[in-house]
Amino acid sequence: MTVSPPPASTRLPRRRSVSPRPLLHTPNGLAYTDEHAEDRSIEGVLLGVVGERSESQRFAMERLLCRVCAEPAERSRDGMLWLLPLPSDTPDQRRREDWPEGVMAIEPPVCGEHARAAPPFWEGGYQVFYAAEAELVGVYGTLHPAPGVLADPVERILRFDDPRMPWMVATQFVRQLRRLTPAAPDQRR
Ligand SMILES: [Zn+2]
Repeated sequence: MTVSPPPASTRLPRRRSVSPRPLLHTPNGLAYTDEHAEDRSIEGVLLGVVGERSESQRFAMERLLCRVCAEPAERSRDGMLWLLPLPSDTPDQRRREDWPEGVMAIEPPVCGEHARAAPPFWEGGYQVFYAAEAELVGVYGTLHPAPGVLADPVERILRFDDPRMPWMVATQFVRQLRRLTPAAPDQRR
C-alpha cells in the first residue's frame, strides 16, 4: 500500500527559515538574540526548528492531529490511535505484556488511514494501539550544558518540570501514553 501525499492544509503553520539562530546565555537560561513571543511555548520553553518538520510536529502534537495528513487523529472508546516503532528488544509485538505502558511519544497520533498505511521504514516492526491517556508532559530537543559545565549538547526528552529546561532548545512536543489497548489486526496493515 502506498502512502498518499499529505493534502495541502491551511491549518499547518507557515514554514519559516531554518538557518541556525544565535543563542544567548542569560542568567535565566538560553534565549535568542532576536527572540519573539512565538519562539516560546506556553510553558515558556525555547522552541527551535530542525528541518521543516518541527513546527508541523508541534502543531499536530498540541492539537492531536494525524502526524501524516494533519486531519484529526482516530478515536475510539479505547482512546486515540498511535503508531510507534517496536522497541528493538521486543521479540513478539503481539504479546500484551510487551506493550509499552507509559511510553513517551515524540510523534503525533495517526488517523485510521495512515495507521493502515504505515511508513515503509517501519516494516521491520511497529505497533498500533489506542491510548486512553496522552498527557503532554515535555519536549524533545537539544539540551545545552548549563554555564560552567563542560559537556556537549545532547538530544533528549525533558519533562516540563525538569530544572534543566532553561538550557533546552525544543524541537518536538512529547506526550506520555497510558492505558494502552492494541488496535485491531486490520489496523496494523
Ligand atoms: Zn492521516
